[in-house]
Amino acid sequence: MIRQLPPEVADAIAAGEVVERPASVVKELVENSLDAGARRVSIEVRGAGRGLIRVADDGEGIPTDQLALAFLRHATSKVQRLEDLAAIGTLGFRGEALASRTRGAQIRLRAGALVDEGAAAPTPGTVIEVRDLFGNTPARLKFLKSDATENGAANQVVRTYAVLRPDVRFELVLDGRRALATAGDADRRAALGAVLGAQVAEAMLPVEAEGVRGMVSEPRLSRGSREAIVLAVNSRPVASHRLQHALEQAYLGRLERGRYPVAVLDLTLPAAEVDVNVHPAKREVRFRDEGALYSLVQRAVLAALGGSRVFAMPLQTVAAGPAPRTSDIALQIEPAPAPPATLLRPLGQVLDGYLVAEGPDGIILIDQHAAHERVLYNRFLSRLRGAPAPSQPLLLPQVVELEPSLVAAAADHGERLNALGFEVESFGQGAVQVRAAPVETPAGRIEEALLDLLSSLAGSRAEDRQEQAAASIACHSAVRFGDSMDLSEQRRLLEELERTPDSITCPHGRPTRLELSTQELRRHFRRNY
Ligand code: ADP
Ligand code: MG
Repeated sequence: MIRQLPPEVADAIAAGEVVERPASVVKELVENSLDAGARRVSIEVRGAGRGLIRVADDGEGIPTDQLALAFLRHATSKVQRLEDLAAIGTLGFRGEALASRTRGAQIRLRAGALVDEGAAAPTPGTVIEVRDLFGNTPARLKFLKSDATENGAANQVVRTYAVLRPDVRFELVLDGRRALATAGDADRRAALGAVLGAQVAEAMLPVEAEGVRGMVSEPRLSRGSREAIVLAVNSRPVASHRLQHALEQAYLGRLERGRYPVAVLDLTLPAAEVDVNVHPAKREVRFRDEGALYSLVQRAVLAALGGSRVFAMPLQTVAAGPAPRTSDIALQIEPAPAPPATLLRPLGQVLDGYLVAEGPDGIILIDQHAAHERVLYNRFLSRLRGAPAPSQPLLLPQVVELEPSLVAAAADHGERLNALGFEVESFGQGAVQVRAAPVETPAGRIEEALLDLLSSLAGSRAEDRQEQAAASIACHSAVRFGDSMDLSEQRRLLEELERTPDSITCPHGRPTRLELSTQELRRHFRRNY
């Protein structure tokens, strides 16, 4: 039942302009369709939204006698009393979207029940057409960007909902061209495939934890920006720096700096745990217990990433042609079985810094520095988390000169230095004396290792200080690209690599190894075909 909100409720609603650009119209109308329980939403945009925006759905429709009401300010069927605002279960709640349109645009509305009363059976659902948007407010028109940009923004709105609601069939037509279509069969991987392509869909891992669902990309797939990350609460897309950070934190050591995952994460929260009435465009929300959600997201993503597969040849994992059937993908995505006792057999070192090994299922190329770095990173990290640290007393204590900020860091982080295996004492002004160092750090690199470790301890945020410190000391202790390694050293590194979890990438997110599987070799050499 649509009613106009009483003034005290209307006043309590986060106010502001709903319609900033054509994409905001698309967003409001799509949200209305979803609130109406639609399973099909078709969106048509012409002239970058200035000509026509048309949204048709098969939702519950608007009763004929309430049609006029829907277009009044603060008219809504979703909220009635002040208390309702504390537990909003729908995407809309302001009663402003349809009303705002009447101010700037001509509207033709055809609700299911209204079409040809008495004649053919009424189509269920609602069709809303918005024409000549901002026709009455030419100032607004001037602020619109190029057609391509406005279309892109509208497209982004639909893409976001399409991956959040794989159970709904979306279709977007831009100037007569079909820009997007999802099946609405509740298969999120398929919806991601329709939106971002088969190659992306193939590299996604399911996130299935209590309270958070979705998909995140394996480390071998990443983007140069955060554009392909969708965070949502109760299927409402939201912007949240904290949750964004939780996601990125889970990828620490799996993606290079400046690279971001593809992700769709939808948190399920009791409506009372989240306040959506804080931002005019409903983009931001306030959580009651953000800390708990932070670790929930981080844990869920980490669990999903445990299923990542190694980088393999050929690097284009999906061949051109029809997308693989989703059931096949699900099988491939199963986490790799625990490494067999048959360990990698070292065959030698090539091109200055790669190890070649034979594994149970093919040939493996290993970046010796990246691999060693990963092994040491995990080891140092566990020491920072409490594992005992073997350290090596130096025959001759080394004096290392430091700038004042690093002298301070050495004092502040004494315990962490000890945990890693360093024994460091102050040595007059502007210097420290190193009496012991981690057994892994070569004697000739102690000074540079300590300097870099201290700057990373001083420069990192509390929440990722351990990881930064471990990455720093691992990098300075690891064998370098170009160092020669004999077969027994190679074997030792391979054995350790096999025992190390998350060994697909180095702590900076670069790959440690590349596999050329027996199957791929057979295919290439046309054997067994
Ligand atoms: P709100 O979504 O905040 O309630 P709107 O102005 O967007 O406000 O819509 C007003 C009312 O019109 C809604 O509360 C709903 O009852 C009705 N309505 C709008 N769009 C649809 C739709 N596609 N299907 C069914 N009802 C709709
Ligand atoms: Mg609405």
